[in-house]
Amino acid sequence: MNEIDPKLPSKRYGILIVGLPRRHAAILFPLRMGFVPLRKHLHKIGRADTPTCQACGEAPETVPHYILYCPAFNHPRSAMSFELGDNVHSLTALFTNAGSLRLLFRYIHRTRRFEEHFGCMSLPPAKEIMEKAKKQGLKDKGKEKQQKRNEQR
Ligand SMILES: [Zn+2]
Repeated sequence: MNEIDPKLPSKRYGILIVGLPRRHAAILFPLRMGFVPLRKHLHKIGRADTPTCQACGEAPETVPHYILYCPAFNHPRSAMSFELGDNVHSLTALFTNAGSLRLLFRYIHRTRRFEEHFGCMSLPPAKEIMEKAKKQGLKDKGKEKQQKRNEQR
């Protein structure tokens, strides 16, 4: 549980993003903006007949509905709350740090809601992500050095 600490330095959040598999990184920003293949957005861009959530039929399928409220996903949501050690109240809280972001991806994976668009959303172990991020960081530093060398010429 100490993985979820609101005081986590933002650097670690950065590392999580850098080390994420491409499909997970690709969904993060659109998810925050609501530009994801949920009914509300699909309806807006003419790709769905109705904005209503097909899982519960009770409300427009927005990002908050999908993540926070849809009764069809109560089970994976309570698993997420349990792992978070708190009820899931807000999207902002989920997006704030690496630990809660992992739980959010686990939720997305469990609901299988984006599977048809993005494929399997299971996340590799945190350790693998950190290692990938570190390697990526080294690569970027390498590039910087190369650039400096080029500039000096
Ligand atoms: Zn619903």
